[in-house]
Amino acid sequence: MTTPQGRSAPSAGQRLFATPAHGLQAALVVLCVALTVLVAGAIVSWWLAPVGYARPTSITSPQAVPTTSPTTPPTTVKPSPTTVLVIPLGRRAIRVPILEYHYIRVNPNPRDQLGFNLSVTPTNFSAQMDWLASHGYHPITFDNLRAYFEGKAPLPARPVVLTFDDGYLDFFTTAFPILQAHRFKAVSYIVPGFLGGPRYMTPAEVTHLHRSGLVEIGSHTVDHVNLTTSSPANRSFELDASKKMLEGLLRHPVLDFCYPSGDFNAAVVAAVGHAGYVTATTELPGIELAWSARLIWPRVRVSGGETLQMFVANLGQPEPSILHSAPTSPTPSAPGPSQIRF
Ligand SMILES: [Zn+2]
Repeated sequence: MTTPQGRSAPSAGQRLFATPAHGLQAALVVLCVALTVLVAGAIVSWWLAPVGYARPTSITSPQAVPTTSPTTPPTTVKPSPTTVLVIPLGRRAIRVPILEYHYIRVNPNPRDQLGFNLSVTPTNFSAQMDWLASHGYHPITFDNLRAYFEGKAPLPARPVVLTFDDGYLDFFTTAFPILQAHRFKAVSYIVPGFLGGPRYMTPAEVTHLHRSGLVEIGSHTVDHVNLTTSSPANRSFELDASKKMLEGLLRHPVLDFCYPSGDFNAAVVAAVGHAGYVTATTELPGIELAWSARLIWPRVRVSGGETLQMFVANLGQPEPSILHSAPTSPTPSAPGPSQIRF
């Protein structure tokens, strides 16, 4: 710019420094600018410093926040699938120990050897249930076995059936609370003619067990007779009437039977099938359950006084199971190919 006097117009700086007051004002402005530049530079270099070295973790930035956190996973990520061990459908015979109990009590008469052999003490029974729970066993019912062999549902790994013969009162007062504490299923074979007797459960107690959803009720004849020596007519009565009486009490089908004292022959087995039972258990020792032999399934007797070591040995080798990835469903629905486990 040129003035009429021919001199160049004073620059902004010249105007600022035209007076001492202007000079001081200009110096302050320069100082402020310099300070701003310095602070900005410090912030930029601080942001560029390596994570974990100079940057405080309380300051968040897109780079500093981890993509996943062990405590608060992003809501868009689905939970990991649950892996369960199952016995897949399709096997015609599987190893499942059906344990045979009678009394769960301290035998009241030390001279009664038969009573002693039939009596597992509450302490021993509790230890056996604890062992099953801590070793991956899954107590199931005959309902589960029927569903498995009919191709409806696989079984959990290490299945075991806990059966209690005769309907003794101590099943209700002693065994059932221990089973409940473990959420274990069981089977109670009832003799309707004995219900309400001094050592036996009442009809109301049997109904209570059924309604708990943990105990399956099976028949053990009306009067605990030896079916191999009964007349055909009496045999039919014992099989039919016990089934009807229990079904009337429970308002639920009763499809599972147990031969009193384990006594059976071909005619008895045929009569059991004719009466409408689907499974029947004996006192033959063994753990192999074939669907074709479902009316003479073997059992593993649990005797009074046996050690935990003997109890474990009698369970035998578990049926192989497979690792199956499934959603968070309590009952596996379809097994997939995987690694075989025992
Ligand atoms: Zn019996």
